[in-house]
Amino acid sequence: MNRILITGALGQLGTVLAKALYMSENYYVLATDIRSPNQKLPYDFAQVDVLDYGQMEHLVVSHKIDCIYHLVATLSAKGEQDPFMAWNLNMQSFQHIAKLAITHKINRIFWPSSIAAYGEDKNSSFAPQNADMNPTTIYGVSKLVGEKLMNYYYLKYGLDIRSIRLPGVLSMDEPGGGTTDYVVEMVHAALKGQPYTCFLAADTELPMIYINDVVSAVMQLMSAPHVPLHRAFAYNVMGFSLTPQVLADALHKKGYPFALNYAPDYRQKIAASWPRTLDDSLARSAWGWAPKYDLASCLSDMLD
Ligand code: NAD
Repeated sequence: MNRILITGALGQLGTVLAKALYMSENYYVLATDIRSPNQKLPYDFAQVDVLDYGQMEHLVVSHKIDCIYHLVATLSAKGEQDPFMAWNLNMQSFQHIAKLAITHKINRIFWPSSIAAYGEDKNSSFAPQNADMNPTTIYGVSKLVGEKLMNYYYLKYGLDIRSIRLPGVLSMDEPGGGTTDYVVEMVHAALKGQPYTCFLAADTELPMIYINDVVSAVMQLMSAPHVPLHRAFAYNVMGFSLTPQVLADALHKKGYPFALNYAPDYRQKIAASWPRTLDDSLARSAWGWAPKYDLASCLSDMLD
């Protein structure tokens, strides 16, 4: 299992994950995206629409792919602007990847779920791994359905598809239209000394994870031995919980003065429906998950 195809490889997660997989030297990496890269990449790249099944199949066969990291999705905030488009991209691409994998005997798939799969009634301070889930965004609905489909394809075809239920991801790369994008935006504003207007209220607490911890988690999960547990779960993982005000205070304390205003918009309602912290004990016991970054070390790394 060492010939990897990544979809959505130019996005916030894909950019870092593709590089980490390539650097580990165990893998051949074929990055794909609907956009073209704005700089030369060290690994192979193909510009392709993941919804074009024929083109995707051609890439899988011609590059002898045996593992797929399927990252393409319309994220939470963007999805609410056109739920039909978001459903089509998120679910149709999932189905394409599952069908390709079953048809061409792909060994393993990684597909990220999200805390958006929880719903309003689960805005808890410690969301359990298993709960009644009633998501209130089309993005969350698509992630929950994906989790169910993972299990279905495992039971019906033995498809080895693994998942992590990610909280907000912190990195310096441009975020793709999610509800936690304010973190990256605020850090960039602080670095430039520019004023920032936050689209969430000051005390909105959400779980977060630093990109380096995401990469470790994904690589750890994907190389874990195949045990029956893997089929059923999109494992909760998280680093630390954060509010906009705590982030702003930390940046100010680090010597980055910038003016901050709050103007909560439609994303406030989305954030209010998500959990504030997660129980990630199953990931810890099943495959050894443990975050390395807290807010202080994450910010130091980002600002460096
Ligand atoms: P992103 O929006 O930054 O990147 C998505 C990439 O997909 C983009 O580069 C885009 O060009 C590409 N794309 C869009 N439509 C395409 C198509 N039709 N064909 C091929 N490529 C297409 O997203 P991200 O933040 O990197 O998220 C990656 C995955 O992680 C998603 O499944 C997302 O749901 C999940 N996730 C992300 C976060 C987060 O905070 N970033 C949190 C939870 C889960």
